[in-house]
Amino acid sequence: MPALPTLNPPIRTLLGPGPSDIHPRVLAAMARPTVGHLDPYYLQLMDKLQSGLREIFRTKNRMTFAVSGTGSAGMEATVVNLIEPGDSMVVCVNGVFGGRMCDVAERAGAKVTKIERPWGEVFTAAEIKNAVAAAKPKVVGIVMAETSTGASQPIEEISKVVHDGRAMLLVDTVTSLGGMPVEVDAWNIDAVYSGTQKCLSCPPGLAPVSFNDRAMAVIKNRKTKVQSWYLDVSMLASYWGSDRVYHHTAPINMSYGLYEAVSIILEEGLDACFVRHDLNHRAFKAGVAALGMKYAAQEGHQLPMLNAVRVPDGVDEAKIRSDLLNRFGIEIGAGLGAFKGKVWRIGLMGYGARPANVYLLLSALEQLLAEQGHKFDHGASIAAAGEVYASA
Ligand SMILES: *Cc1c(COP(=O)(O)O)cnc(C)c1O
Repeated sequence: MPALPTLNPPIRTLLGPGPSDIHPRVLAAMARPTVGHLDPYYLQLMDKLQSGLREIFRTKNRMTFAVSGTGSAGMEATVVNLIEPGDSMVVCVNGVFGGRMCDVAERAGAKVTKIERPWGEVFTAAEIKNAVAAAKPKVVGIVMAETSTGASQPIEEISKVVHDGRAMLLVDTVTSLGGMPVEVDAWNIDAVYSGTQKCLSCPPGLAPVSFNDRAMAVIKNRKTKVQSWYLDVSMLASYWGSDRVYHHTAPINMSYGLYEAVSIILEEGLDACFVRHDLNHRAFKAGVAALGMKYAAQEGHQLPMLNAVRVPDGVDEAKIRSDLLNRFGIEIGAGLGAFKGKVWRIGLMGYGARPANVYLLLSALEQLLAEQGHKFDHGASIAAAGEVYASA
């Protein structure tokens, strides 16, 4: 049999909704020698990884670990453990990922009450309070950073109304974790999940999750077995806890990658990391405004790491994306669902959130928009971004 063609992936600058550019130190860490998953070296690495994840989630939750799978596996793991068939769950939908959570919850047997906001908008605490009063759910699920719309959902106030209504709060932080404050303990979040491929700058493959003691008590008192063997957190607790009972073989080298990714963030400092995301977002946004373009998400609720920008009239959005990729090696994302063909999704996530990428993308966009006859002052976007950096 002939050999396969040589593996030679192109070098890209990943400025879409994920995966984001991987930090070179993370790639190097992943190439270190694989040890057994019960090797003493790996066991102590798991311990350290868990403490690092607790810092990033800002929690003391014992049950904080990485699910083997991408962000969606984290969603599934939190939902199937909290929900038993027939349980009521309220899911807040203002984009693709809230919609996915409904599907996962229904498959787990939940009676789902879906509440909706138009794409790009966010929920008020009052809306959620009413939904909780009407449905009396066991769990309320919400996406903090809706990657399909670029909208940032405030969580703290919502947590209060959810708990006043005696429900548990489940939060998707796949895109927010590592790019903006996620305060699991201070906000009283019962279960939370994330993913490695957005602001953690690690390849897709693991899903950091955390369950507080209230959630673990509910899981312990379940009447039915968790629908998924692979994602059953009480079994995973014996592997990630002190017993170290074999459950499944953890993806060792992915854990090295996540370990390094978490170390890099903690070296920079979480708060400094948030400031960096915010600064690069503001510089990019100033550049976008100078090109006469607008953001798709509600003003005051725009994510720093995911910039959903409306495509100007008369511009062929798909051609801009393919030209960016083919001529400049830059990937940005297309709009999904209600935003299909209408917005670009531009990620400035983790290692990707830096001035070089902001200038690179703005100048490439200027070139391509000018070719399509879009009118703006040439060089204005670069100058506008520069002013934001200069005044920081
Ligand atoms: C990317 C994403 C997911 C899904 O993560 P995968 O790694 O693609 O499985 C879930 N929720 C949000 C908000 C996301 O951005």
